[in-house]
Amino acid sequence: MTARPNAVSTFPTFPAFPSATILGYPRIGPRRELKRALESYWNGRSSRDELNSAGRRLREATWRRLTDLGLAEPPSNTFSLYDHVLDTAFMLDAVPARYRAADDVYFAMARGTDDVAPLRMTKWFDTNYHYIVPEIGPETAFRLADDKPVREVAEARELGVSTRPVLLGPVTFLLLSQASAGSPAGFTPLHRLNDVLGVYSELLRALAAEGVDWVQLDEPALVADRSDEELVAVRVAYERLGGLDLTERPQLFVSSYFGELGAALPVLADCPVEAIGLDLDRGRDVLARRDLASLAGKTVVAGVVPGRNIWRTHLNDALDTLRYLRGKAGDVTVSTSCSLLHVPHDLESEDDLDPALRKRLAFADQKVGEVIELARLFAAAPDDAVTAPPVRQRPQASSPDSAQPAERSPYPVRAVAQAEHLRLPPLPVTTIGSFPQTGDVRAARAALAAGEISEERYEALVKAEIERAVRLQERLGLDVLVHGEPERNDMVQYFAEHLDGFAITRHGWVQSYGSRCTRPPILHGDVDRPAPITVGWARYAQSLTGKPVKGMLTGPVTIVAWSFVREDRPLRAVFDQVADAIRAEVADLQDAGVSIIQVDEPALRELLPLRRADQAAYLSWAVGAYRRATSVAADRTQIHTHLCYSDAAEVLTAIDALDADVTTIESARSNARVLDDPAMKGFARGLGPGVYDIHSPRVPAVPEITGLAEKILRVLPADQVWINPDCGLKTRTYDQVEAALTNIVTATAELREVS
Ligand code: GLN
Ligand code: ZN
Repeated sequence: MTARPNAVSTFPTFPAFPSATILGYPRIGPRRELKRALESYWNGRSSRDELNSAGRRLREATWRRLTDLGLAEPPSNTFSLYDHVLDTAFMLDAVPARYRAADDVYFAMARGTDDVAPLRMTKWFDTNYHYIVPEIGPETAFRLADDKPVREVAEARELGVSTRPVLLGPVTFLLLSQASAGSPAGFTPLHRLNDVLGVYSELLRALAAEGVDWVQLDEPALVADRSDEELVAVRVAYERLGGLDLTERPQLFVSSYFGELGAALPVLADCPVEAIGLDLDRGRDVLARRDLASLAGKTVVAGVVPGRNIWRTHLNDALDTLRYLRGKAGDVTVSTSCSLLHVPHDLESEDDLDPALRKRLAFADQKVGEVIELARLFAAAPDDAVTAPPVRQRPQASSPDSAQPAERSPYPVRAVAQAEHLRLPPLPVTTIGSFPQTGDVRAARAALAAGEISEERYEALVKAEIERAVRLQERLGLDVLVHGEPERNDMVQYFAEHLDGFAITRHGWVQSYGSRCTRPPILHGDVDRPAPITVGWARYAQSLTGKPVKGMLTGPVTIVAWSFVREDRPLRAVFDQVADAIRAEVADLQDAGVSIIQVDEPALRELLPLRRADQAAYLSWAVGAYRRATSVAADRTQIHTHLCYSDAAEVLTAIDALDADVTTIESARSNARVLDDPAMKGFARGLGPGVYDIHSPRVPAVPEITGLAEKILRVLPADQVWINPDCGLKTRTYDQVEAALTNIVTATAELREVS
């Protein structure tokens, strides 16, 4: 360790925290190099060694890039071959017994093998990144099984770069884990805190021995509501880790992000850790707290450069914030609000963007530039404090909220009108929208974009795909058909490409999970629908058959959730604009004779604020936007919605609030657990709990489907029940889909006979 001379103190002193830093960096590579390397390994085209080398090259490129951009002591261990929560479980040897025999234990946990299903995966807080959920039980034997954080420090040092390793904090790790099957009642992973802390202590010693000055412990779980017991765990954890002698451990930087620390702030302030990170974007309310001064004596790592969006930072506002904090807490350094994992690599590769828009944007590398620039400005700024907490210029709604359009008639009235109009058989069979996306369609889209085929040729190819899907559904005997969505690359991007106010990037990929990335559109201007988007395809599909074909739209909340959204207008106003565009599309579909319209909202839950106190306001805007988009439907037009999940309580509340006539949800995957909720009994609208788990290549047999449907029919009256898969069929093959739908239709015929 290179101790810094300190004139005042006679105690040994330790290196100061760098004046500018970032909490993490994208891992996928500027051209999705990681994705390619992973796929090649998974397909057996390359070895594990080759994959590991690809990882090493990406880490090296990252450290070099960050150093070139001027960032001293960049973070390490922010890279992962799949997911950092999985890395942590693997490091702690929290490997459930059923994976131990696999050839590649790490990827068996991530993706499963022929013999064993993968670990569960779920959303990382309120982002679109998904992590692997570790399973922890009383039997888990924790030990330091992998020294990846230490190895990466050594690896960077060989390149001449000293780094700050980033670890997932022990409390967040355990809070994100689930109890392994067979754990005794009342057991939660947090009960294993002491054992986990033992391994973290060992790791800290190893990092200190490696010459590490600072280590970052990420504790984003602390920005959600936490019980007293959980807050005690925070205290226990950081008193123990911080209690190690400073010769035995690096200095500790506990970072929080995605919100404000709330009741965890005084707890951390009391613990013997040397630095605390605050999210001053989403957790900006911290500036108004009276107890800010309790952070004095620690370094405050001020996350003033937002890591969750792609807009340039208002440097003057950020500077005021830094100066205000310095007045309260003393030692302040500049950082991003969270890891840059959630933004694309580099704006430089986007030459197609409108220059006026480009000027407003900052991707990861530009944000690195911003923290460095801010640190420079901050060092030069006068020492006198900004006295009042700087308020960010909150956007004002420039026009009064537009009136909420009139509502539809109450559901029972609509149900009668729809039954008369549609004349569907009992237990109608339908699907969620997409049919298998064949390589041909994808190739045609690429060829169209490259100018290799004409618009007419592309249209003919898409029409042929639509016809194929429609003919198959007719032949198998489905009741409500879909056109199959072959014209859509992605359910959000497709609409963004056809609406004003959005821009699409070329390389703006953001990791969603493992090798999967999305390219979120940029919602930067006023949203408007210059022309109908889906009506032509819907009309064509309907012309092929006498059965009803559902119109298929993405809802306003999902479009907003899966885009980077402008912040110069209130979120609520943005919701309303997107809702109005979808509303116009609903109206045009209806005018074109489409009598069933599905408006998907798989992301409804995703934007739900982490703190309960903020959730009601969000739900009222989100639900308001959905109803605004759909309430133009006449009573006899049937509105469907689809949610990709089914945690009972949340789903029922959401379904009620959205007021759709029919809701399809995932349920086969969880063996229709959603039906166990007592509240289900009183449910009064149409519901299609999925009977086919589309996430798996397995084709469900007829008795399995009837079994699930019977469970549904024990809870809901038959005239409310729809029979459908869990989700869209996009990722399956036509063979699998044909076999599964055949069985679904056969099972439904049996059920109709007995009921
Ligand atoms: N209609 C879409 C599809 O079937 C819904 C996708 C989703 O739920 N995420 O693909
Ligand atoms: Zn779905």
